[in-house]
Amino acid sequence: MRQTETNLIHTGEELNKTKAVVTPIYQTSTYFADENLDEYIAAATEPKHPEFYHRHGNPTNSQVAAIIAKLEKTEDALVLATGMAAISTAILAVVKAGDHILAQNAHYSGATLFLKEFLSEYGITVTHVDQTNNQAFAEAIQPNTKLIYIETPSNPNLDITDLEFVGQLGKEKGILTMVDNTFASPINQVPAEFGIDVILHSATKYLGGHSDLTAGVICGSKEYIQKVWRRSITLGASLSPFDSWLLLRGLKTLSLRVNQINSNALALAQWLEENPAIKKVSYTGLPSHPQHELAKKQLKGHTGMLCIEVAGKDEADEYKNAQTILSHLQLFANAASLGGVESLVVHPASMWGSHHSSTQKKVSGITRGMLRISVGIEHIDDIIADWEQAIAKI
Ligand SMILES: *Cc1c(COP(=O)(O)O)cnc(C)c1O
Repeated sequence: MRQTETNLIHTGEELNKTKAVVTPIYQTSTYFADENLDEYIAAATEPKHPEFYHRHGNPTNSQVAAIIAKLEKTEDALVLATGMAAISTAILAVVKAGDHILAQNAHYSGATLFLKEFLSEYGITVTHVDQTNNQAFAEAIQPNTKLIYIETPSNPNLDITDLEFVGQLGKEKGILTMVDNTFASPINQVPAEFGIDVILHSATKYLGGHSDLTAGVICGSKEYIQKVWRRSITLGASLSPFDSWLLLRGLKTLSLRVNQINSNALALAQWLEENPAIKKVSYTGLPSHPQHELAKKQLKGHTGMLCIEVAGKDEADEYKNAQTILSHLQLFANAASLGGVESLVVHPASMWGSHHSSTQKKVSGITRGMLRISVGIEHIDDIIADWEQAIAKI
């Protein structure tokens, strides 16, 4: 069986019907009808047909989906225009009015909005539990629970959900399980190995890897992906030919990038943990992470995501010091998003201030002195030097 690095370059190449070594961009909305009308009817109705009409499918989209399904060890995958399109379409394919979803306290902000504000208007109820407490999941199941929706490691605190426990719980109760695997990427975590049914990504992040596209992916069984595809052609968030081609290009170096990022992030986390200006470092690769043992069980590498709390005399001082660091970092741009080759940093309390109420922030564990870091592939000596000079400005 071929290894991941080889699959990233060669999986799905049979879907490239041209002689071009690099799959071309199919910048077309529609395709010629076959002479044979029966074949054309089949093209119009077959899920994800790559050469009928763009909303139904595209050759590059098929190739990208084949690669990601291979990495995630699922039968099939569907690519869409954004991570949020993947999340909303994947969920809307399985729930209807009267159903219940079991979710976590901490999710990506867009997913939180979708679960709390959108779905409630359509008669779907959602219970949010502490993701670090397995029993809380088991106890919150209702007779009408149709979906367990999780995210691990979570945003921004890097809390871990026990994939094997949730996977088994879903199987025992006959409930579909779905995980947002964006933070880990399939290089670091393969949830299907722990019995999770559906795996979602914002491919805008690690999979694309260059902060130059938006895309989303849904991975699951062939049967489930057909259901999702049917939803997707009416919801309409198809991935553009050019973004799909960029994603195909980005995927080729996924393993190289993620492994470098893992190593840079661990070194930075260790350095920050020793620094007295930093009160707390949350990184799943540090033995100080409260779920380090569980993290080691389900993560092959610990990602480029870490979250720190800056020290200060009181909360106001911590906030001021965090702002000082943020404004003096030179390599780390203060920008939303993550998972690119360049390092980024954000202040979660400011970024999600408009989405989260103060109680929600407390439940999600967001403090004013907190900074969330996405480590890139710059040289580690330069990364640490940048933090050293920024901390010296306090
Ligand atoms: C960014 C992100 C999303 C949303 O993806 P978009 O491509 O921005 O729509 C979902 N989940 C996680 C964990 C993310 O980081």
